[in-house]
Amino acid sequence: MAGTETHHVVVIGAGIVGCCTAFELAKRGVKDVLVLEKGTVASGPTGRSSGILRQFYTHPTLVQMARQGLQAYASCRDETGYDAGFTLTGWLLVVNQASEPVARNGLDVQQHFSVPSRWLSVEDIAELVPDITTADLIGGVYEADSGYGDPAGAANAFLSRAREMGVVYRPDCELLDWAVAGPGVIEVVTSQGKLQAGVVLNCAGSWVPGILERRGCPIPVSTSRHQIITVREAARPTRPIVSDPLTYCYIRPEGRDLTLIGSSDPADAEDVVDVDACPSGIEATAMESLVSRARRRLPALEDAGIAHGWSGVYDVSADGFPILGPVPGVEGMVLATGLSGHGFKLAPAIAEILASFVTDSIPDSRAQLFRWSRFAEGDPIRSITTSALTTMKDERTTHVGT
Ligand SMILES: Cc1cc2nc3c(=O)[nH]c(=O)nc-3n(C[C@H](O)[C@H](O)[C@H](O)COP(=O)(O)OP(=O)(O)OC[C@H]3O[C@@H](n4cnc5c(N)ncnc54)[C@H](O)[C@@H]3O)c2cc1C
Repeated sequence: MAGTETHHVVVIGAGIVGCCTAFELAKRGVKDVLVLEKGTVASGPTGRSSGILRQFYTHPTLVQMARQGLQAYASCRDETGYDAGFTLTGWLLVVNQASEPVARNGLDVQQHFSVPSRWLSVEDIAELVPDITTADLIGGVYEADSGYGDPAGAANAFLSRAREMGVVYRPDCELLDWAVAGPGVIEVVTSQGKLQAGVVLNCAGSWVPGILERRGCPIPVSTSRHQIITVREAARPTRPIVSDPLTYCYIRPEGRDLTLIGSSDPADAEDVVDVDACPSGIEATAMESLVSRARRRLPALEDAGIAHGWSGVYDVSADGFPILGPVPGVEGMVLATGLSGHGFKLAPAIAEILASFVTDSIPDSRAQLFRWSRFAEGDPIRSITTSALTTMKDERTTHVGT
C-alpha cells in the first residue's frame, strides 16, 4: 500500500518486557524498531509491581532467568547509563516441616546452578531477623545477593537507552486491530493511524489475550487482582525481604522509611478481573488481612500505620509459567504473556528470547520450554525434582549466555 508507514519491528507495550526487548534489539543492531504504548512507560502492572528479585524457583530455567534478571538490574547503570533502583537486602524464605521438601529441592536446584543461596537454621534466622516469630519454623532458604528493583525506573532506563540507540517510542498510541496482510507483513491499526510491520513483538502483558481474540486466537491466560500495602514502622529495623508461604505474604523494605506487604495467597489467582476494570485502590478487608498475616511473622508490625495501598493485575497462564514465542498459525507475531507474577525479574531474559526470533536463524533454546503449543500437546511445564537434576548436566550451557 503506497504511503503506509512501515517498520521492521513493532513492539506493542512499554512495560518492563517491551522496554527490555527494545533495548535488546538495539544492542543486537536491529534497525527500524517502533515501540507503541497506549499509555506511558510502565503505566500497566509494571508500575504497580513489588519489584522483588529473588532466585528461588524449582525449575532450573527459571532459576537461571531470575539470576540473569537480578544481574541485569544490578548492572543497569553500567549497561544503559540509567539506574534501575536495585537495592540489596537479601531474601529469606521461611520454611516449616511441611514445606521443607519443596524448599530443600529448590535450594538444590539453585546450588546446582551456582546461585549463592544457603540453608539457615532457626537460630540463624533469629540472628538475621531479630523480631521474627520462629515458633512454627524449622529453618529457611537465604539468598544474600537478592533484593528489589524499581520496575518503573528500570523500564524507563532500558527504553531511554534504546531510544538513544535509534528505537522510536510512541506513547498514547493504542493497537486497535491487526491482521496478517501477506507473507512477512502484519498490518496494525492504531489510534494514530495504520502501519505495517515485518514482525510484531506483542509485549502487552495482560492485554495480550484481548489482542489475540480479535483474530480468534484464544490463549489460556487469565487476569487476577493483587493488592499491596505499605506501612510505616516507628523505627524500621534493617531486614531482608521475608517471603512467608505459611502466612501467604511477603514483606520487604520500601525505600528508607516504609515496609511493603504483598499477598502470596494462591487463592488470589481466583480473583479474576477484567484488566480494564480492575480497581486501582485496595479494599479495607484486604488491608486488614495483609497486616494481620504479616504481624503473625513480624509482631513488631502491630504498631505500624498504613501509609498506602494499591492493586495490580497478574497475567496468569494455565500452568503458571510464561508463554513466549510465535502465535501458532500467525506468521510474524511473537508474544510474551502469562508471566504469572514473575515478569519483572524474568524480563531481561525474556527480552533475549523474543529478540532471538528477530535476529537468529535458530531461536533461543529456552523458547521451546515456553512454547504456547505445550497446552495443546498436553505437556504443561512442571517443576523439576532434585533427582532429575542429575540428568541435566548440560542444562547450564544450554540456557546461559544465549
Ligand atoms: C502487585 C504486583 C506485584 C508484583 N510483584 C512482582 C515481583 O515482586 N517480582 C516480579 O518479578 N514480578 C512481580 N510482578 C509481576 C511483574 O510486575 C509483571 O509480570 C511485569 O511487570 C509485566 O510486565 P509486562 O511488560 O509483560 O506487562 P505490562 O506491565 O502489563 O506492560 C504492558 C504494556 O502494554 C500496554 N498495552 C496494552 N495493550 C496495548 C495496546 N493495545 N496498544 C498499545 N499498548 C498496549 C500497557 O499499557 C502496558 O503498559 C508483580 C505484579 C503486580 C501487579
